[in-house]
Amino acid sequence: MAKRILITGGAGFLGSHLCDRYHKEGWDVICMDNLITGSYENIEHLVDQERFTFIKFDVTEYIDLDGDLDLILHFASPASPIDYLEMPIQTLKVGSLGTHKTLGLARAKKARFLLASTSEVYGDPLEHPQKESYWGNVNPTGYRGVYDEAKRFAEAMTMAYQRYHGIETRIVRIFNTYGSRMRLNDGRALPTFFRQAFYNKPITVFGDGSQTRSFTYVDDLVEGIYRLSKSDEDEPVNIGNPEEISILDFAKEIIEITGSKSEIDFKELPADDPKIRQPDISKAKRVLNWEPKTSRREGLLKTMEYFKEQVSKSG
Ligand code: UDP
Repeated sequence: MAKRILITGGAGFLGSHLCDRYHKEGWDVICMDNLITGSYENIEHLVDQERFTFIKFDVTEYIDLDGDLDLILHFASPASPIDYLEMPIQTLKVGSLGTHKTLGLARAKKARFLLASTSEVYGDPLEHPQKESYWGNVNPTGYRGVYDEAKRFAEAMTMAYQRYHGIETRIVRIFNTYGSRMRLNDGRALPTFFRQAFYNKPITVFGDGSQTRSFTYVDDLVEGIYRLSKSDEDEPVNIGNPEEISILDFAKEIIEITGSKSEIDFKELPADDPKIRQPDISKAKRVLNWEPKTSRREGLLKTMEYFKEQVSKSG
């Protein structure tokens, strides 16, 4: 019999790519999403297939699910800064109550549990690049605190279920990831810059653009998560592409790739915006034999095609 997996947030950007991957690997996939940031379009191609079920549900409520489960991937959460600024309470609830409910389900079903955590647990980091052993520099009461602290709580809860209830748990710390199915209007730098570049509108760089990020192509991330879910590693693992770039250079790169006439428009830097971010992936290399295969340029060229289509659809 096919192994059965529950993916919360399965209609989101990352969740839907994970649905695709596990479905392709022969798993029976249950996708759960309340569609507040996820979208039915992301999974539409799967809904008529065998071994795929979509359940519209808010995982902060008690989850009642029939049958066995082998694996739960807990990916439900607003995840772009704009989303969690607009939905601070839902963000806190899905990271705390949602993690508790899905861990409870893992315990009841004797399923393995994998938590989607984030580089945001490192906050505005004082250590560079960030290793899993770094504890972070987070403002608990700032605007980003609702996401950062929810994910930190989720990690603590996951480790408590592992230690106290003997649940098999995995934690992935995800760095900035991009690819198809990102929402054009989620406020993140990458879709925003593409949209602005296509329309030859000014590219809004926050601050002086010297802050850095390291962007991972979605297929690389999915491969890392797939490997982690099968591995014996029960402590957090960073998955990300260490190719680091300043946001100003990134804006220029998008202008160049799209052949746009856009100019740069400097805007105020949002509060607590991390100044630097780059994963140390030596652990992922060691324990998962994983490293990213897609260069930023290659990934951006693929993603540009997707955004072009989205822009032409939105008119
Ligand atoms: N950013 C920007 N212009 C935008 C959107 C974002 O300069 O229109 C900056 C943002 O301040 C941050 C970086 O780009 O320094 C990455 O932002 P994003 O929202 O993509 O993700 P984050 O890494 O901050 O969660």
